[in-house]
Amino acid sequence: MTADRTDADIAAGWAPETQLVHGGTLRSQFGETSEAIFLTQGFVYTSAEQAEARFKGEDPGYQYSRFANPTVSMLEERLRIFEGAEACRATATGMAAVNAAIMSYLRAGDHIIAARAMFGSCRYIIETLCPRFGITPTLVDGRDLAEWRKAVRPNTKAFFFETPANPTLDLVDIAAVSKIAKEIGALVMVDNVFATPMLQRPLQHGADVVIYSATKHIDGQGRCLGGTVLCSDKFLVDHLQDYFRQTGPSLSPFNAWVMLKSLETMPIRIAAQCANAAVVADHLAGKPGVLRVVYCGRKDHPQAAIVDKQMTGGGQMIAFELDGGKDAAFRFQNALRLIKISNNLGDAKSLITHPPTTTHQRIGPVARAELGIGDGMLRLSVGLENAGDLIADVERGLAAARAG
Ligand SMILES: *Cc1c(COP(=O)(O)O)cnc(C)c1O
Repeated sequence: MTADRTDADIAAGWAPETQLVHGGTLRSQFGETSEAIFLTQGFVYTSAEQAEARFKGEDPGYQYSRFANPTVSMLEERLRIFEGAEACRATATGMAAVNAAIMSYLRAGDHIIAARAMFGSCRYIIETLCPRFGITPTLVDGRDLAEWRKAVRPNTKAFFFETPANPTLDLVDIAAVSKIAKEIGALVMVDNVFATPMLQRPLQHGADVVIYSATKHIDGQGRCLGGTVLCSDKFLVDHLQDYFRQTGPSLSPFNAWVMLKSLETMPIRIAAQCANAAVVADHLAGKPGVLRVVYCGRKDHPQAAIVDKQMTGGGQMIAFELDGGKDAAFRFQNALRLIKISNNLGDAKSLITHPPTTTHQRIGPVARAELGIGDGMLRLSVGLENAGDLIADVERGLAAARAG
């Protein structure tokens, strides 16, 4: 191939911002500045011998875009360098990434322990899908180290958790839980979506596999679905690679290209969103009609010590509970003119959702109570708008909520 790949060793020494602009660039013979979109399913060989060699793995290069594609591999390499992982595979969605990581690794007879507070679809995979294949799950309160320890069995092979968790922003101490897992030889898989790759590096705290829904902050502008699994070379070779190639959760090259370009601005976007979220969270705290505000960047976060230990910023997600339950939460949302009602998150546009009636409707009132999701809880994903405009909108919501 005549393509010119940015040297991974040099990129590893760059600062994060530089890695996100240049890391993994694979320049074609035309020398384009902006990354090319290789919208192709297949690749042609110069001879029958070359085709044979490529299938034998003796000739480096591409075969078929379900296995690998140059634009997708640019995204994988950029994220891999940035996260400091040995390997990365990009998937069509975040859930495809979660599913591939869990299902490629676990086998019938294995046991998985997971923190109860997690994204609804992750809970489906662990609670409903795993048992169908003979994998036994145990759900624990992720904040309680004693529960993790107590749940361990001789056949425990994996720990899975999300921190901060959706929507409560509960945290799991990555280093402490990873230590428990290491003692029994289990792998730790972290869904790092809420923290974003900017603010938390699970691998540095002992995790083995890091999963993103790239749909969220990596795209960051609400356009394409995508996901990634970051892991060791060993995990890739022993588990993920074949599963990935044969079951086909591959990312579209077009979506990979959108995300590659998004990575260039991710540090600037996340910094601005964190700054906005801090202003909005501080504004909400202590306002009449607001029972509590949970934001990882506030000193009153119930697990502030863990924020200090493993996060480098408060993030852009806020959870808050209104006095007056569902009715107050609905009045708040319906009065908004700028912040949009949507269950998505991590967008440049501020989005709000009422978890009890949307994302966490299916789990029912008992499970919601167990997770601390009250009927008056709202989850706000803070975007890139002007903070003053956001506060004016929040004020409209609060006035309507109190008017009930
Ligand atoms: C959105 C999300 C997912 C799933 O990602 P998709 O891209 O929608 O498949 C998984 N985990 C968390 C924490 C999420 O926010």
